[in-house]
Amino acid sequence: MVSRRTFSTGLAAGAVSSALALPAAAKAPYRGPNVILVRFGGGVRRAETIKRSGTHAPFLLHRFASRGVLIPDMRIEQLEGAATSHAEGTINILTGRYLAYADRGSSFLEDRLEPTHPTLFEYVREAFALEPHEALLINGEDRPQEEYLVAGATGHRSLTLRAEMLSLHRFKLHKFARILAERKLGEDELLRARQDYDDLLSRAPPGERQEPSPAVASFWDRWREDFGDSGLVNPRGDALLTEIAIRAMRELRPRLMMINYQDTDYVHWGNSSHYTRAISIIDKGLEQIVATADADDFYRGNTVFVVVPDCGRDANSLMDIPFQHHFNTRSAHEIWALIAGPGIVKARVLDRTADQSAIAATIGAVMGFKAKQAEGTALAELLT
Ligand SMILES: [Zn+2]
Repeated sequence: MVSRRTFSTGLAAGAVSSALALPAAAKAPYRGPNVILVRFGGGVRRAETIKRSGTHAPFLLHRFASRGVLIPDMRIEQLEGAATSHAEGTINILTGRYLAYADRGSSFLEDRLEPTHPTLFEYVREAFALEPHEALLINGEDRPQEEYLVAGATGHRSLTLRAEMLSLHRFKLHKFARILAERKLGEDELLRARQDYDDLLSRAPPGERQEPSPAVASFWDRWREDFGDSGLVNPRGDALLTEIAIRAMRELRPRLMMINYQDTDYVHWGNSSHYTRAISIIDKGLEQIVATADADDFYRGNTVFVVVPDCGRDANSLMDIPFQHHFNTRSAHEIWALIAGPGIVKARVLDRTADQSAIAATIGAVMGFKAKQAEGTALAELLT
């Protein structure tokens, strides 16, 4: 364990962490199935996803669901004190607990929640000899607040166990670091690059390691070769997350990867077609990622998919701006899940209520570790 004092003085994280965690060689190699965890949106309702009459996710519902178990009545059971929102729901999924987060606080960016308990990434890297890039979190286009999902100043984690994160924010950090090291640009452009780099650094969790692992640095170098420095060539929004996820599968071979889709949340601006179109883009992304797995020896027949939203959305269509999720309404607690892959029952619909906090323990059962501080229990009836 890293004490708070060690952590805050621990910018020399490599030196600190190597003394704290078991060396990788002392751990068992990972031989279980790969797990791809898809956060299906920044809040979606059942009505537009898993209801036959209203779905905008035809791949999910009509083609992929038969490969596993659909859980139509998953809920965020915690009512007291729980916010039904994106970072909160993501941390529920990752820790297997409710309210396992603390606000890191900031005057200019909200929603800087970090987990107060271990996440799936730490559990799996604690149990098995996995490199940082083998436990991956793929985050939204420009949401540095999501950096906090793998941050931790509370002393429960060591830097040797956290997830490696891929996002456009991370790419830009890497790009500007390279530009500054290469010194090929004129002085004015270098000065601007320095300012942009410092601005990005100021948005990241203070004291956290910013440099990617060598494998991820090479990943971003290849990304930069293909898409350049302008940011105008690569896909945008949730399609960008799909592109990063597929390239990561091919180049980094993650054993546990979570993709945080989010663009359904543009409905906060009031246009419901943004919401339904975003669902279909996530559905398309899921289809592409499944197809990538099916076409790759490393993933084919050896990958469990867990698809679950972070939160639901309000059902009151009379609101000025429908589809909100901040008012703790029943519908905002009503989600679903789909789990499919080797070792999972096929073509079944779970006919009971399940809890979002069960996801972490279930993934632990699939991968062969115990999510010790999770409150939810594994959905044992899904396992063959
Ligand atoms: Zn939102």
